[in-house]
Amino acid sequence: MAVKKTDKHEEFDFFQAVEDNFEKAARHLSFPKGLLNQIKACNSVYQMRFPVKIGNEYQVIEAYRVQHSHHRMPTKGGIRYSLAVDQNEVMALAALMTYKCAIVDVPFGGAKGGIKISPRNTPEAVLENITRRYTSELIKKNFIGPGIDVPAPDYGTGEREMAWILDTYMTFKPGEIDGYGCITGKPVSQNGIRGRTEATGRGVVYALNEICSYADDMKKLGLTTGLKGKKIAVQGLGNVGFHAANIIQEYGAIVVAICEQEGSIHNPKGLDVQAVFNHRKATGSLKDFPGAKNLKTNLAGMEVDCDILIPAALENQITATNAPNIKAKIIAEAANGPTTPEAEKILIKKGVMIVPDIYINAGGVTVSYFEWLKNLSHVRFGRMNKRFEEKNQEALVNLIEEMTGKKLSDKEKGRVIHGGDEIDIVNSGLEQTMIEAYKEIRKFWKDTKKCESLREAAFAVAINKIGNSYYSMGVFP
Ligand code: NAD
Repeated sequence: MAVKKTDKHEEFDFFQAVEDNFEKAARHLSFPKGLLNQIKACNSVYQMRFPVKIGNEYQVIEAYRVQHSHHRMPTKGGIRYSLAVDQNEVMALAALMTYKCAIVDVPFGGAKGGIKISPRNTPEAVLENITRRYTSELIKKNFIGPGIDVPAPDYGTGEREMAWILDTYMTFKPGEIDGYGCITGKPVSQNGIRGRTEATGRGVVYALNEICSYADDMKKLGLTTGLKGKKIAVQGLGNVGFHAANIIQEYGAIVVAICEQEGSIHNPKGLDVQAVFNHRKATGSLKDFPGAKNLKTNLAGMEVDCDILIPAALENQITATNAPNIKAKIIAEAANGPTTPEAEKILIKKGVMIVPDIYINAGGVTVSYFEWLKNLSHVRFGRMNKRFEEKNQEALVNLIEEMTGKKLSDKEKGRVIHGGDEIDIVNSGLEQTMIEAYKEIRKFWKDTKKCESLREAAFAVAINKIGNSYYSMGVFP
């Protein structure tokens, strides 16, 4: 499906860039061309226009839902609110979701939605109206449902929008027993799951912790192992950027620069991420944060001296223009598509390790999967086994105390006996997922000598799994 480049993509045709990455990776596999074409193609594209009354006027809203791959159902992917939304972008993001789900073994096909509005400049009541109307359009065309297509938050959306979508869906489908599974990223009070809000950012940190544990890879980059003491620059202090930056500090990393739309700030000694967030909330800008220097442009914070750069805003941010100035040794693509193909060439030549979006920001969809499982099983994780585990652990501790004649302190006992709550189980499942997926990608990267980048390896791992799924389905004998 050819989609023309838009003005926004003058240097960068997002969907084409995803297809190009696919082609490069597919060279390492031996699937027939027809099968590769099937994996690559967007299966369903729903483009809609609907009227919404704003004040005394009607406005026509442009919106999309793209289901990239039906090889596994339901399909899954976030909904984005931004003035930059267009069909090319939503198709690209939906395709990335397919590969992302395959990489982290989440049994969904990829999808994505988008509404062309500015959430910042739209009053809440209008946003609600638009969200509910968009949901009813999806219901009308059977584009939403726990076994059909399950949206989630993305750029410009969060728990609030997911709750509106859920409420609209349930109004149209009363009594649908698994109805809560029609959307993820819901508030916990609406059958959401603990840990989903911060899951993408937390997943980025778990991934980086694993990546930085390989001494030979770090040596090649001129870095020591571990996150402790690593200098971090972050672009975007929204859901993903804030949580990634905040959580990475717990590992001893130092966040030295943060960029937002209004500007960027720098402090080589480190910024307190929560304090910067509070300052921005209170003043409307991250500029003039005490102790930090305001940099000249909002992109300048990406070019400071640092070890890891985390772009967590939008696509098309690291381009041929600023790539030569980037000093980071590792780029962790928390956002989708932040690096253009031209920039990637420059960075690879410089020896930079680019950790691709389809792996490193997969924490969100992983925990969305856990939320969906919770909704279908109608029980919170940990509810059935927490006390049972604690009693077993306690019996074991008592036995050890009796046998050794030594007593543990109450604090030590508490730590050993603690049974898993929902948040513990979610975070542990997320960490395991991010580690396993990286091991798989890294193995392909190391084993396949002609593999140029981690991105190529990640795409190949994903295509291989999807291709084999088509084979076992019997579609391609
Ligand atoms: P968000 O809306 O919560 O935050 C994005 C932030 O980026 C906002 O604070 C915005 O002001 C800032 N921003 C926009 N343009 C900028 C610019 N030019 N320079 C600096 N900052 C800028 O969105 P989010 O959910 O954090 O998503 C960010 C990225 O992560 C997107 O690419 C999205 O597709 C991707 N992602 C999100 C999730 C998720 O669970 N939310 C999961 C996977 C990937």
